[in-house]
Amino acid sequence: MTLQRPRPRSQWTVGGVLVTVRRSARRRTLSLNVSPGTVTVHAPARTPDALISSFLEARRGWVERHLTAYAARTVPSPLVDGAALPFLGETLTLRVTPGTRTPTRSGSEVHIPPGDPDATRRAVERWYRLAALPELRALTEGYADALGARDRLRRVSLSGARTRWGSCTAQGDIRLHWLLARAPREVAAYVVLHEAAHLLELNHSPRYWAHIARLMPDHATRRAWLRDHGHTLALG
Ligand SMILES: [Zn+2]
Repeated sequence: MTLQRPRPRSQWTVGGVLVTVRRSARRRTLSLNVSPGTVTVHAPARTPDALISSFLEARRGWVERHLTAYAARTVPSPLVDGAALPFLGETLTLRVTPGTRTPTRSGSEVHIPPGDPDATRRAVERWYRLAALPELRALTEGYADALGARDRLRRVSLSGARTRWGSCTAQGDIRLHWLLARAPREVAAYVVLHEAAHLLELNHSPRYWAHIARLMPDHATRRAWLRDHGHTLALG
């Protein structure tokens, strides 16, 4: 089973942004959420499309103003000397240091060799992958233990899959997206637990969610963070 990264499926756009519609059986009213580059409508499960259309239409100006304001203030942080590098809840500083061979962390700084933007991006990704694997593996083993599923876990590796944060196979191989290293630790932990629980249940049944809820009562908040901010983890 895989945990999908959100992919907008929608017929509406506002200010050039595709509107994501999330329907939920528990919801009773329509609401609208605007964050940098995303517009989300939360709707009760059976809301007719026409109602969502008119709801959006009535708020189009408001949404466009917010999107414009965000666009003006959020320039993606370029990967230059001094740039902030989030790492599982810490904020490290990128240092472009002549003479560096392998990207290396020293204290709260990550040193990479000078290079063009593409080389810099590759070096930064390389460092994230090196640093993330042991952390994410340890987290995965911890949750597999807590679930009593340690013997089912085979291999933990990193992925760069475009559309998913993690996956778990029937053979017990878990793959986790390296960009999770840029998320808050508790958010990365949610994805890790999500996949580790698939070692027991290769589905999203109530039994599966009971395992998650037992070990992480606030899992919904962490999942919501990923839904709302996951796109901000990409390298600037
Ligand atoms: Zn899943």
